[in-house]
Amino acid sequence: MELEPVRDLPEIRAGDDLADLIADRTTLEPGDVVTVASTVVSKAEGRTADLDDYPVSGRAREIADKIGELTAEEKDPRFAQAVLEESTELLIDAPFLLTETRFGHISVNAGIDRSNVPGHDLLLLPKRPGKSAERIRAGLEERGVDDVAVIVTDTCGRPFRHGQRGVALGWAGISASRDWRGEPDRDGRELGVTVQSVVDELSSAANLVAGEGAGGTPAVVVRDWAFGDLEGSDELFRSVEDDLVRQALREWEFD
Ligand code: GDP
Ligand code: MN
Ligand code: MN
Ligand code: MN
Repeated sequence: MELEPVRDLPEIRAGDDLADLIADRTTLEPGDVVTVASTVVSKAEGRTADLDDYPVSGRAREIADKIGELTAEEKDPRFAQAVLEESTELLIDAPFLLTETRFGHISVNAGIDRSNVPGHDLLLLPKRPGKSAERIRAGLEERGVDDVAVIVTDTCGRPFRHGQRGVALGWAGISASRDWRGEPDRDGRELGVTVQSVVDELSSAANLVAGEGAGGTPAVVVRDWAFGDLEGSDELFRSVEDDLVRQALREWEFD
């Protein structure tokens, strides 16, 4: 398996065609996987915003005040408002905002980014990253690139461990996971629970190559890697019924 950044991509602006920009800068073969940082997908889709776009609701003001009391840091209530508007459920309101976005991904601040956003205050996540991945994949097909998978990634924190890593927000041309259940281990014992989140693992690997700062390499090509013939599944985001941690958060008293 090899990972190679797509070099010399420009600063991405609203309306840019990422499939074109990528196809011009690399040679893709059937079976390759292209990862694209959500940052540039959002920029291409015009998902920039400014704090002044968000008239503050009572709820946003309450959250900002509460965060201000719990931490020395002042929280802009307009930012809290932006997070609320991008979310369908608020899981933690202070000392930081943890929410479910409209497409089912749970992250701090609804994934709203304040880095790598020239000229604006905020960069919202793509509205439907799965659709974004499909569009980029279709754009590549139009350019004669067949059988390539596309994954839209973000750098994201996780519970229980320090540090952030790449995760998949949307994907096309590949299943999210491969199901090892029923496969034998080296002792011949059948695996009972292992469903490997392939798109997250590829996203993490690619994110290592993409970097986080000013490197300018939001797209990475994964070559010589195959999904194999295990059964695939597209379930990535747990539903509440299926998620004990979320249920525990719901029972936890916020005040
Ligand atoms: P995120 O993980 O999706 O939030 O994206 P990051 O902000 O961590 O950026 C990932 C990579 O993309 C880094 O190498 C950035 O320097 C690069 N990057 C961000 N925006 C642009 C852009 O508009 N053009 C180019 N060429 N690189 C960018
Ligand atoms: Mn960023
Ligand atoms: Mn991000
Ligand atoms: Mn990142």
